Amino acid sequence: MDDSFKHQGWRCQMVQNLRNRGIADERVLHAMQEVPRHLFLETMLDYMAYEDRALPIKCGQTISQPSTVAFQSALLDAQPEMKVLEVGTGSGYQTAVLCAMGLRVFTIERQKELYDVTKNRLKQMKYRAKTFLGDGYKGLPEYGPFDRIIITCGAPEVPEELVRQLKTSGVMVIPVGGEHQEMIRIVKMGDGPDDILEQRYGDCKFVPMLGKLDYGGR
Ligand code: SAH
Repeated sequence: MDDSFKHQGWRCQMVQNLRNRGIADERVLHAMQEVPRHLFLETMLDYMAYEDRALPIKCGQTISQPSTVAFQSALLDAQPEMKVLEVGTGSGYQTAVLCAMGLRVFTIERQKELYDVTKNRLKQMKYRAKTFLGDGYKGLPEYGPFDRIIITCGAPEVPEELVRQLKTSGVMVIPVGGEHQEMIRIVKMGDGPDDILEQRYGDCKFVPMLGKLDYGGR
């Protein structure tokens, strides 16, 4: 499948809708204008790719809806060349948007099947993210500290280890909660794990961030 005029037209409309909903970050809007979201979905979902809805991907997971991707990306308040850690690669769409914003992206996925498919997809599409199979709760200490961290699954609480891997004045955007979550933006003010500023941005709904216990302790 390619990026036809029809898809490009739908994408312009999607970006216009994001503007109308108050997304004003031009770097985010430009990136979302560039990245062909339909190529991150099964072909049969192609016609819904530019509607503002989450859609199923492999392993019972979902690709976040465009307004959520735009909102989280804008909350990151990132500058080009910054080092960003993403937890929950999924389809790779959010990863690609971050790459298109000029960021250096490190992304972790814990489901092998998704990891394999998405790693190839991103490579074929020439997005230069570094992909990892592993547990996002652990982060990537050997590649940190990061300027920005974005979590794209609902975490029961803010993972301390990830705060540790954030640079001072770094920002983390994370949905926190159980079945429903609240979007939280954390600014790391100093060295201590408690030296953080928390800003709240309302309710949201993500698939859960799974830990060891969800897999029977394996
Ligand atoms: N950013 C993705 C959203 C995918 S849904 C996209 O745009 O498509 C969230 C993803 O988080 C799922 O793929 C799920 O497998 C993954 N996930 C859940 N818990 C995780 C963990 N502890 N570590 C890494 N990935 C995790």
